[in-house]
Parts: sequence; C-alpha cells; structure tokens
Amino acid sequence: MTYEKLLRFSEKEALKYDKEIEAVKLLLMELSGLDPHEFFLNLKSDVDDQFYDFFLSNLYKYLKEDVPVQHLIGYSYFYGYKFNVSNDVLIPRSETEQLVEEVLYLYDNYFEGKDVKVLDLGTGSGCIGVTLSLEEKHMDVTISDISLEALEVAKSNIKKLGSNAEYLHSDLFDNITGTFDIIVSNPPYIPNEEALENIVKKEPNVALFGGVLGTDFYKKILENIKPFLKKKALIAFEHGYLQKEDIKKFVEMYLPDAIILQKKDLQQKDRFTFIGLGGVLS
Ligand code: GLN
Repeated sequence: MTYEKLLRFSEKEALKYDKEIEAVKLLLMELSGLDPHEFFLNLKSDVDDQFYDFFLSNLYKYLKEDVPVQHLIGYSYFYGYKFNVSNDVLIPRSETEQLVEEVLYLYDNYFEGKDVKVLDLGTGSGCIGVTLSLEEKHMDVTISDISLEALEVAKSNIKKLGSNAEYLHSDLFDNITGTFDIIVSNPPYIPNEEALENIVKKEPNVALFGGVLGTDFYKKILENIKPFLKKKALIAFEHGYLQKEDIKKFVEMYLPDAIILQKKDLQQKDRFTFIGLGGVLS
C-alpha cells in the first residue's frame, strides 16, 4: 500500500463518516513524520505494515470516536508555531490567531514600541501569551490558568518554543500581583446548556463553559480588573458572537471611563472586544 492509496482510502472514509477531508490528510501527513514537501514526493512509496496499522487505528479514533486530530498528533498549529496540546487544554482556534494579531496591531498604535507588561488570563495551551512573547520582544508576558494540567502543557510550550513568558497557577486574579499594560483573555464562553458537537465534547469542560449565558468570566474579570491595570492600559477579549452587548454593559458598569472597540472575526461574527483606559483606541 502506498501513501497515495492510503490517502485516497482515508478521504473516502472521511466522506462516509461525514468528517473533514483536510483533517485526515493532516493526520496522515503528520503521523508519517514527513513534511508536506517530502510527503508529496513520497506519495508513491510503500508504507510498512506497522505504519499501516498505526495509521488506521488513529484514523478510526477520529472517524468513529470523534477524537480530535490535534489530540492524536499531540499538537496544533497556531500563528505559525507548533503548540503541544492534550485533552487538558482547549485546541487553539483560528479566531484566536486573529485576537493575537489585533493585540499586536493595537500595541503598535497604542504603546508605540514601549516595554509593556502583559497578562494572559486562562492561557490553556499558552497559545495567546506565548505567541505574544515570541512575536514582540517589548512584551514581558505572564500567563496563568486555574488548571494545573493545562499549566503543564503551557510550560512545555514555553520551553519548546523558546519563550521567556512566566507562568502562574491562578484562578483569575487570585495569585496575580502587580499591574499590567495589557490584559488579554479568551475565557470559556459557551453557555452551560448549549449542545456541543461530539468532537468538541472531547475538550475539557473547564475550558468551554462560561455559565448560564456564557458571559460569567467577562463579568468576573471586569469586576476585579481595576487594581491590576496601569493608568494607560488595554484589555482584549475574544467572546461568543452573541455576547457583544453583554460585555459592553459590564464595561460600562465597572470601567465607565473606558473606550470600547468591538470587532468582527473573518466570518463576520462579532468576536472581539478591546477596551482602552487612559488612551485613544483606533
Ligand atoms: N487561552 C486559550 C486559548 O485561547 C485557552 C482558552 C480556554 O481554555 N477557554 O486557546
């Protein structure tokens, strides 16, 4: 059996099980250990029996048991980096790449190359904070999470990707000290009773659910954030596409002097809220 035959077989199986073609392609390529260029050069090479069995057992875990491909390969691509993931963390999403990009853009305009202290609350795999620390050398980043298991994954990413971010075990602000120029968070925001796809159910509840309306964490964060902000500061949130107005209300309640900027994701859904204190956001 060649890689090519195995690929075409897997794609047919994916259609049969109503799963994503791209995902099975990624699974085969990543498990083969070949980079994309080598993979296509080797399409006509035979795979050995051991690899064949290994691949098929992983393929059916995805097709029949809904195990996410990222859990099977052990990592996920985010902002051009390969982040370790496990079933203790949320698999980084592409919307969150846009959050990182927006924060970098706003940093350039709002802080103009100054050294800033950044906090990533509920960091999960570390994808937001670690990426910011790698992309912008003026950012001194702290990442934190309530889950010790998630923090282990985040620590492994700090090490593997050569980041200088510091990590802290904390339930929101409980163990945080000092003040920050930028606080960024993509907290759990799915309403408690919302029905999930089977594949999403494989991710930890602590990373998914945010109370009855899904907005509990924004309220808790905004209610307690003031002592942790510098005079001129930026808060950046990712949120559910129906939560824009609720978050705006929390900001008006707890930070009445702040400037609010809300943006859509690439699917044109309301996804991000940026909050500026002591400066003009644009
Ligand atoms: N901050 C992490 C991410 O954006 C984890 C988010 C979460 O667990 N809700 O992927």
